[in-house]
Amino acid sequence: MNCPSHCLIYGNGRHSYRDLPIRYADFGRLHRYERSGVTHGLTRVRTFCQDDAHIYCTPDQMKEEMASFLAFIKNVYHTFGFDELRVNLSTRPESRLGSDEIWDHAEGALAAALNEAEMPFNINPGDGAFYGPKIDFQVLDALRRPWQLGTLQVDYSMPSRFGLIYVKPDGTEAQPVMLHRAILGSLERFMGILIEHCAGAFPTWLAPVQVAVLPITDRAHDYARSIRDKALDLGIRVELDLRNEKINAKIRDAQLSKVPYMLVLGDREAAAGTLSVRHRHRGDLGAQPLDGFFDGLVQEIRSRAR
Ligand code: ZN
Repeated sequence: MNCPSHCLIYGNGRHSYRDLPIRYADFGRLHRYERSGVTHGLTRVRTFCQDDAHIYCTPDQMKEEMASFLAFIKNVYHTFGFDELRVNLSTRPESRLGSDEIWDHAEGALAAALNEAEMPFNINPGDGAFYGPKIDFQVLDALRRPWQLGTLQVDYSMPSRFGLIYVKPDGTEAQPVMLHRAILGSLERFMGILIEHCAGAFPTWLAPVQVAVLPITDRAHDYARSIRDKALDLGIRVELDLRNEKINAKIRDAQLSKVPYMLVLGDREAAAGTLSVRHRHRGDLGAQPLDGFFDGLVQEIRSRAR
């Protein structure tokens, strides 16, 4: 895990209250020796990356850091199409570190940040770690299976074990609070969940191939190449199918690969400088002018439309 190394980075220099909050994020590769029987596709693997970050802040800054994290996580889940969230707040366990006053403050800050973000949540009493309360976030996929992704964990223990301090306005030293946070969790596992969620039909902005250019005859090859080049110039991920296959076979293959847009080009399109557009879900969209189609596509990609 990245937590101890981030503490070492923090502890490497002197920090004033004016430096806080300090936020570290890294996508370093992690390893976990899972027994061979329990590894599972992309969702449980032996080496992975986490979108792990640690925020060092004063107790007073906690609530604001939590609020900005909640806004961040909402935005990310919405962008990926996970609209149904389950949020759990786990509170102080029987055996724990720190005074009741500290726990009141931390649990109160988490609950207040959730309320202000208008995120309904369940409370799991006693389920927090010995070193602090936490929130975890589950998303429901298309088959309504819950997956735990994000987490936000308050930690008073690790800063103490690593002897981390900051200098307060009056010149005395105090210990920062450490917030562990992840949004997607393991990137490998998140990819697995996302593939299941959209059944492989990624939204256009995420699709590995966004446009398939499918010439009907050899005579349309030059026109098809020019369309492919135009798409490349616009930064669109495009494939040109020049195989000597019937157009129906080309369409079927692109459809099975879940390519969002198929451009079917024959003599008529080449002569008129237009495109016959097919969409993987909406079917035949008819003839469209070049610029109109590409303007719309670029807009769809930039806005990360779903
Ligand atoms: Zn951590």
